[in-house]
Amino acid sequence: MELISNKIPDEFRTVIPRGLRLVHKNDQEFLLVESIFCPRGHNLLVDSVHIHGEPSIKLELMINGQKGLAFIDAFWGSHVKLFSFLPECGEGTMLEGFCPYCHCSLMEEYSCHREGCDSHTGMALQLPSSTGKVIVCARLGCPAHILDVSAIPHELTESISGINFFGAGTEDLFGGLE
Ligand SMILES: [Zn+2]
Ligand SMILES: [Zn+2]
Repeated sequence: MELISNKIPDEFRTVIPRGLRLVHKNDQEFLLVESIFCPRGHNLLVDSVHIHGEPSIKLELMINGQKGLAFIDAFWGSHVKLFSFLPECGEGTMLEGFCPYCHCSLMEEYSCHREGCDSHTGMALQLPSSTGKVIVCARLGCPAHILDVSAIPHELTESISGINFFGAGTEDLFGGLE
């Protein structure tokens, strides 16, 4: 699958929070999650599984009563996930996320504003030094994810939150990955 770049606003370049960085691939610019943590400080980026050539975000997910590991693409707005199990995903399936190391819950209240999605929970991933967090909608297949950084003007975090490289619902499921 090709990465499709959405434009990163110029004003954002000077205020990129720690934990995110800009990368260039094929003359295009992407935002990449470089370090992200559970609420207890475990680094969720792993070198053992690369997606699109970069370390992925390792999570423990519970989907329809099944629990297993998932590796999420660290490219901002990508929805590529690799699962260590084959979850049964129906329409509107909700996921629950945990730290794969201390197993603490990553879930918090979040009102999804995506049309057609009425989710009230999200999975929060913490940026370094309490600068803020990334919140991902808990509804599987909903592409909503927001950047919640109080030091950055709201309009900017909104436009970053709107970036979706692959569009809605184009998730790749792969089974059997340990
Ligand atoms: Zn942890
Ligand atoms: Zn949603």
